[in-house]
Amino acid sequence: MSQSSLIATRIEELRSLLPEGVQLVAVSKFKPVEDIMAAYEAGQRLFGESRVQEFLEKSPRLPADIKWHFIGHLQTNKVRQLIGKTALIESVDSVRLLKLIDSESRARDLVTSVLLQVHVAAEETKFGFSADELRAFISSGDFLSLNNVYICGLMAMATNTDHVDIVRRDFAEAAALFREVKQAIGVNPLTLEPLQPFRILSMGMSGDWPVAVEEGANLIRVGSAIFGER
Ligand SMILES: *Cc1c(COP(=O)(O)O)cnc(C)c1O
Repeated sequence: MSQSSLIATRIEELRSLLPEGVQLVAVSKFKPVEDIMAAYEAGQRLFGESRVQEFLEKSPRLPADIKWHFIGHLQTNKVRQLIGKTALIESVDSVRLLKLIDSESRARDLVTSVLLQVHVAAEETKFGFSADELRAFISSGDFLSLNNVYICGLMAMATNTDHVDIVRRDFAEAAALFREVKQAIGVNPLTLEPLQPFRILSMGMSGDWPVAVEEGANLIRVGSAIFGER
């Protein structure tokens, strides 16, 4: 089978397995535009990239109706280059980064949709808000003055391990935080509008997405199971 038809077959297979309401982001980092086009021709429109430079090189060569999710660690000095080019920045891992995205978006008269990345895995190296940092940020009410970001939900990664019980515990912890924040953000008492469109729980990758979906993910990010090993 050619690489293109292999990609199309894997996309269709994955889609047939996903419950309704769970969206698939095809993670195309390190993969050439030809591979992305193969997925596009199989109907895929949501793609994830993790490096600003690579994203800026590839995206102009691809169809304009692709929705790009940025999923990698975002350095503050790259924010300006990225603003206005993404459907969703999933990897906002600090208040400082969030505020910068807000101010850069305001300068461009845009509203940028983001997820807050939470750290639930055992590895120390992973980026993201701890549960306590997230709670402190929400109860500070600081998000109320950030008018140029939509905080659409949370993104999480589980511990990188073959022990399914550990992976499940990590995802369950992220899902509990998601429900807690959704509750806390609540609705505006005057307009009854939600204060933030908080509804996306992004978790699960090639090796662990079925567990993530069982624990409540409604967006999964799958790379190697579609495009092959990197
Ligand atoms: C690379 C990456 C993925 C996809 O990983 P696979 O194991 O290839 O499916 C998902 N999420 C993030 C944040 C990533 O960096």
